[in-house]
Amino acid sequence: MTPTGTRAQVLIRSGGCCERCGICLANVPADVHHRRPRGMGGTRDPEIDAPENQVAICRVCHTWIESHRAVATDQGWLVPRKDPRHPRDVPVFIDGGWYLIEPTLIVPVDLTPPF
Ligand SMILES: [Zn+2]
Repeated sequence: MTPTGTRAQVLIRSGGCCERCGICLANVPADVHHRRPRGMGGTRDPEIDAPENQVAICRVCHTWIESHRAVATDQGWLVPRKDPRHPRDVPVFIDGGWYLIEPTLIVPVDLTPPF
């Protein structure tokens, strides 16, 4: 799948809302964030390009993730390159609960928060 196709898929999955805070993205700056960073020439890596690795988020959430990297990693919004798990297997913390990001939807998982 081309990056353009994946991006479109992520935006459809989001329903036009930030996948972290839920704000409508129609009238705010928004980004598609790569949970595992693309790094040097990584855009051709199918794991990096997978929709499970990408989230549609508002700029406020994107800035929070990039400026709170340790907590963002604990909450699954960043998946370090050294983490052996596929991003699809790394849950994210949203509004008090844990969710797994799948290609076409985000599903709740029963986890006890570590904090
Ligand atoms: Zn947001």
